[in-house]
Amino acid sequence: MSDEGVAIKRPEGGIVEHLCEHPGCTKWGSFGYAHGRAAPHWYCFEHQIEWPPAKKS
Ligand SMILES: [Zn+2]
Repeated sequence: MSDEGVAIKRPEGGIVEHLCEHPGCTKWGSFGYAHGRAAPHWYCFEHQIEWPPAKKS
């Protein structure tokens, strides 16, 4: 197992619990996606989203 694909760093000073945000999913959100200064969103491997979002041309 590896951590490849993790997009953001772990915050310092403690463990932050973050479960997958997919509706109805209770798995651990291993994949974090931060957009600008907004709070990061977390998804499990199964529900990980495309990141960065594909630019519309
Ligand atoms: Zn999920």
